[in-house]
Amino acid sequence: MAEEQLKELREQLDEINSELLALLSQRADIVERIGQIKHTRGMTAFDPEREKQQLDRLAAENPGPFDDGTIRHLFKQIFQASLGLQEERRGLLVSRSRTGTDTVVTVRGMDIGGGKPFVVGGPCSVETPDQMEKVGKELQAQGILLMRGGAFKPRTSPYDFQGLGEPGLQLLKQTGQKYGMAVVSEIVSPNDVEMALQYVDMIQVGARNMQNFELLKAVGATRIPILLKRGLSATIEELIYAAEYIASRGNEKIVLCERGIRTYEKATRNTLDISAVPILKQETHLPVLVDVTHSTGRKDIMIPVAKAALAVGADGVMVEVHPEPSVALSDAKQQLNFAEFAAFMHALRESGLIPRLEPVS
Ligand code: PEP
Ligand code: MN
Repeated sequence: MAEEQLKELREQLDEINSELLALLSQRADIVERIGQIKHTRGMTAFDPEREKQQLDRLAAENPGPFDDGTIRHLFKQIFQASLGLQEERRGLLVSRSRTGTDTVVTVRGMDIGGGKPFVVGGPCSVETPDQMEKVGKELQAQGILLMRGGAFKPRTSPYDFQGLGEPGLQLLKQTGQKYGMAVVSEIVSPNDVEMALQYVDMIQVGARNMQNFELLKAVGATRIPILLKRGLSATIEELIYAAEYIASRGNEKIVLCERGIRTYEKATRNTLDISAVPILKQETHLPVLVDVTHSTGRKDIMIPVAKAALAVGADGVMVEVHPEPSVALSDAKQQLNFAEFAAFMHALRESGLIPRLEPVS
């Protein structure tokens, strides 16, 4: 008899467990919906005031036999699990899990990340009209559709050339227009973002500014494509969070750029973290470029390194080109001259890693 009663009571317990479980899942659903609202409103997940209210109410309603402390403890566990749910499941806007498809960032009609790898080229710094005229012509001849050129240069020494500023952007824009190329340039201050929109098709956030959060917010508030470079000592996770800063302000036109990180190795200017490319492609839905100039700092290995970058899945490579690198006002040692650039483009096209040059009709 007792045996049967025990069995029956246990069955009742099993049923109550199932009901509790169903209620917990139902509660979790609501928690997630609250989490989404909090996220869109920019509210933090944890709300201690609200948690206290709930615990006080439960203690007041407690019919026993558990004492209030036990009830508070049990529900605190449920609250904590719920908080975890809000934080984890929320997912980053830039994360791959949010969308199954690759984001294609279109810069003046040119698609980045659409399966057609490309080269972005141009001088380290915009220097003179003559330099830009020569470089524009050469880049066009090589079929380049996106030209780079720095007008605000974040230099290690304050005594080095700091860039031409706004007139440099003007010159870059004029050259781009003349030779049918979109242009990208680095902006280092949130105050210059608005001004830059008149001149550039894409704003670069450089390595030294990857965690300049005010700048990230400022470019996030625009709708212009952003080229976000990995910081000198930034982890992949930090780069992803930097991109999230931009996306969280509503601008998802982000292209990531691996440009080498600081290690003890001295043979190259930085150490190119080639594995960052497939990791970023796997973890995010954003296009990824590799800057072969700043990562290697060596012209002699740029072709194999660019091939490796494309082979590992990069959507494009960035390379610095100057009519006369030896007299360049920045990065004189590592910019390619026109002959070297032509050889670089030829090698990449021959490898099949970027499309062949279509004959100009
Ligand atoms: C640049 O691309 O001009 C530049 C300064 O690169 P980085 O920010 O990667 O050093
Ligand atoms: Mn440079």
